[in-house]
Amino acid sequence: MLGTGTSSGVPAIGCECAVCRSADPHDRRTRPSILIDLGGPGSAAPVNGAVTAAARFVLVDTSTDLRVQALANAIRRVDAILFTHAHADHVFGIDEVRRFNAMQRSPIPIMAAPATLAEIRRTFEYIFNPPPAHGGGVPKLAPFAIGGPFSLGGWEFVPVPLLHGPLPILGFRVGPFAYLTDCNEIPAASWPLLAGVQTLVLDALRDRPHSTHFSVEQALGVVARLRPERTYFTHIAHDLAHEATCARLPAGVQLAYDGQMLEIHE
Ligand SMILES: [Zn+2]
Ligand SMILES: [Zn+2]
Ligand SMILES: [Zn+2]
Repeated sequence: MLGTGTSSGVPAIGCECAVCRSADPHDRRTRPSILIDLGGPGSAAPVNGAVTAAARFVLVDTSTDLRVQALANAIRRVDAILFTHAHADHVFGIDEVRRFNAMQRSPIPIMAAPATLAEIRRTFEYIFNPPPAHGGGVPKLAPFAIGGPFSLGGWEFVPVPLLHGPLPILGFRVGPFAYLTDCNEIPAASWPLLAGVQTLVLDALRDRPHSTHFSVEQALGVVARLRPERTYFTHIAHDLAHEATCARLPAGVQLAYDGQMLEIHE
C-alpha cells in the first residue's frame, strides 16, 4: 500500500484536527496508489513497447506522492503502470516515471480505459506531444487501451468497472486480490467479477456519505455481500483516526496504512 489517503492527503494543509495533528504514523496518508509484486524473475525490457509477459512490479496509478512513496518503499523497478482513472490525485506523479525509464533504459507500458488514456494524453500533452525545441526529460510511456482482461507476469488481470459518482472508472482483480479505490457503487455486472475475492482493498472515505466515495457504512455493506477473508479500507480522509476506527470495525476489516504489505496467496 503506497498511499491510502484521500485526494488532499492526511494531514491536510493547514488543518488542526486531531487526526491531522496525530502522532500515530498510521494517520499520515499519502495519495492513493499500490504496487503489486507478482514475484518471479522480473522483466526484460519491453520490445517495441509491447507489454512484457515477464512483468513483475505493477504500479497502480502515479499518485501526486509517487516520488516520496518510491523512496519510502525502496521501489527500484516498475514494469507496467495501470490507471484506475485520471483524477489529479491518481496521475500527478507521472513525471516521476522518468527515473524508472532511466534505470530500466526502456519505455514503460501504461494501461487504462480508452477515456482515461485520452484524458492523460490531454492533461500531460508535454509528454505525448513535446515541443520540438524542448530538451529531453519527459517520461517515456507506451500506452495500451484496456478492453478486457489482460495478462501481466503470467497473471490474469481483470478490469472491474466501478462508478465514482457519475464517472466510470476501473478497479482491478488479480487472482484472489482486488483493488477497488474511488467508487461509491459496484454496478450489477461487476459483482460476478469479484466472486471469491479473499483480500479486498476498498474505498471508504469517512463516516458521512459522499457523492463519489463509499462511506464506512456503505463499504461494510460491500464486505457483507462479498465476504472476503480480509478487507482493507483506503482513500481515507482525515475524519478517521486509524486506531479508533480499526477498534470499531468488524473482524477481518481494517483501515489500510501507507507502507502496509499484504501477502496474497492463491
Ligand atoms: Zn482519488
Ligand atoms: Zn484534518
Ligand atoms: Zn477520483
